[in-house]
This record gives sequence, C-alpha cells and structure tokens, in this order.
Amino acid sequence: MTTPLADRFGRVATDLRVSLTDRCNLRCNYCMPAEGLDWLPTDQTLTDDEVVRLITIGVERLGIREVRFTGGEPLLRRGLVDIVARTHALGVETSLTTNALGLNRTAQALADAGLDRINASLDTVRPETFATITRRDRLQDVVAGLEAAKAAGLGPIKLNAVLLRGTNDDQAAELLRWSIDHGYELRFIEQMPLDAQHDWSRAAMVTADEIYAQLTDQFTLTPHGEPRGSAPAELFDVDGGPATVGIIASVTRPFCGDCDRVRLTADGQVRNCLFAREESDLRTALRSDATDQEIAERWVIAMLGKRAGHGIDDVTFLQPDRPMSAIGG
Ligand code: SAM
Ligand code: SF4
Repeated sequence: MTTPLADRFGRVATDLRVSLTDRCNLRCNYCMPAEGLDWLPTDQTLTDDEVVRLITIGVERLGIREVRFTGGEPLLRRGLVDIVARTHALGVETSLTTNALGLNRTAQALADAGLDRINASLDTVRPETFATITRRDRLQDVVAGLEAAKAAGLGPIKLNAVLLRGTNDDQAAELLRWSIDHGYELRFIEQMPLDAQHDWSRAAMVTADEIYAQLTDQFTLTPHGEPRGSAPAELFDVDGGPATVGIIASVTRPFCGDCDRVRLTADGQVRNCLFAREESDLRTALRSDATDQEIAERWVIAMLGKRAGHGIDDVTFLQPDRPMSAIGG
C-alpha cells in the first residue's frame, strides 16, 4: 500500500527531484560566486546505495512516479549511470537536468541505462556571453553534449534559459531561433532569489512579460492547446507550430497551487519546496538503522509543513540558506 506525499493544501507530490552533488564545473553568475562554494564533505553526501534506497522508498511506498536527477552538476557524480539504471528498474520516468558539459561522453550510456529525457541549461549561443555568464569558455562543449544527447535518443531535449539584465536580455529571439533550428524545445525561466551571493533583485529581474514582448517582436506566439496541469511553463506554438516555446513565470505568476514536487538534497535532506526554510533529515535516519517504513513516515511528515506558496512578494520573505546549486533545480 502507498501513502501519498500530501500536504495540508490538497497537493500531492509525485515528482521527485534528486540532487546528486552540489559541485559544478561552471560558475553561472546568477547561481554561484566565481570561487565556488564550500562543497559538501564526502561523508555527508549520500552514497549511491543510500540514494537508491531513498528513491525506492519514494516509489514503492510514497507514490513517486517521476525522478529527475539534478545538482550542482549531476554529470559530475561518478555513479550516475548506475543510479539511473537502478531507478529505471523501479518502473518510473527518469530525467536529468544538466549543463551538458561532458554529455558527449556519457549520453549513450545514460540512454542505455534507461534515462528518458534531459533538460539542459543554455542561456546564450554567443561564446563571449556564455563565458561572461558561466565564467568558463565552454560553449562548444555544451553544444557537442546536446548533439550527443540528441543522437542517443534522449529527446525531446528541453533547454532552460535565464535572461539577465544587461548581459543576455536582448538575446531571447536569437536563442529561440537557434533552438528551433537545432530541434530543441526552449523554455525561459524567470530568475529567482536562490543565488548563493544573495544578489537577486526583483527590480532588475527580467520578467515573463518582457520575454513575451521580445519574442512576439519576431515570432507569432499562440497558446499551445494542451492544458498546463502541474507543468510550470506557459507554452506557446511558434509561428503556427510545431515548434513551441515555454515561459516559466516562477516569480511574477507563481504556480505553487499546482506543485507536485518534492526535493531530496545530496546530503539526504527532504525539502518540500525550493524556497523552504526547513528541511527533514533522512540521512541520519538512514544511518541509524531506521526501517524503510520509518523513513517513509518521516518523509510523509516532512510534507505537512509545505507552505501554500513561495511568498517572494511578501515583506517577510527570506531567501533560503541553501542556494539553488545545493538544492537541485
Ligand atoms: N547544473 C545543472 C544545470 O545547470 O542545468 C543542474 C542544476 S541548475 C541549479 C538547474 C537549473 O536552475 C538551471 O537551468 C539553471 O539555469 C537554473 N537556475 C540556477 N539558479 C537560478 C536562479 N537563481 N533562478 C532561476 N533559475 C536558476
Ligand atoms: Fe552549475 Fe547549473 Fe549553477 Fe550553472 S546553473 S553554476 S551549471 S549548477
């Protein structure tokens, strides 16, 4: 029998985001500082077996139907292919959110392990802007990784882009044109207050409405027919389709009421929301011989504290201590 991961507002989490590491080989300036962060010590990071045990509890006892691996950069996790294979064997959908660096070496192995899809981050197709944002001159490697993922059948490949004022905020249409030409599905995400440096500002953020206005200067966008459900992107057909573009208005038009996600950090903490200020420690339970049922019960309780919304616009809003790179986007 499964117990749903329900909260007090009637939402049920079925989509598990698993962060496999807080480390990264890029330094996107809206995510982390140039010098990186104090990475989690190895002994605090879940082992591959611990990660798979928690996922198995989620799937077999708590109704998880979809597992997305993220980070930090999940391709840096040595056991990734094995973790994907063991998760796939549980009969759930698996996907990966990645910066695509090194994907040209692992895409086929990931596809063979049963990975269903990838989402990759790409904020610009100009090498100099890429180097400015990520502080690394690696655009060509990312493009090669995406091509390899396509060749390995890991499509449809979704690209996530964040527009930053004064850096790439004039490149929305160019990025969409490039994505369509290469067969990728682009989605713009509003920048959120989850950077390690706490530099985010509501006033400087590029809004979904601005992105829409820029795109409609050059393309005809019509709302895509299918209902949005719990998917955060507002989806549009581009120039009559079949190409689409998504705009995720996480800040200006929050979709918290439809949220079906729950997150597990690389050090074994359950987070019921990206913006949660409390976490529930499953690692200690795992390492003190708790049974699967006891861990499942802790997880169920962790969901009860989930708030109705992220509250970014509330005067009382406080950014979580953990940055996006350590939560898993
Ligand atoms: N390293 C992988 C990647 O970049 O895809 C996975 C982790 S990254 C934290 C996941 C996603 O979060 C990326 O698409 C990234 O652009 C996005 N992201 C990071 N910081 C963000 C922020 N402050 N606001 C909105 N999106 C952010
Ligand atoms: Fe790394 Fe992803 Fe953060 Fe960029 S957004 S620094 S690729 S974790």
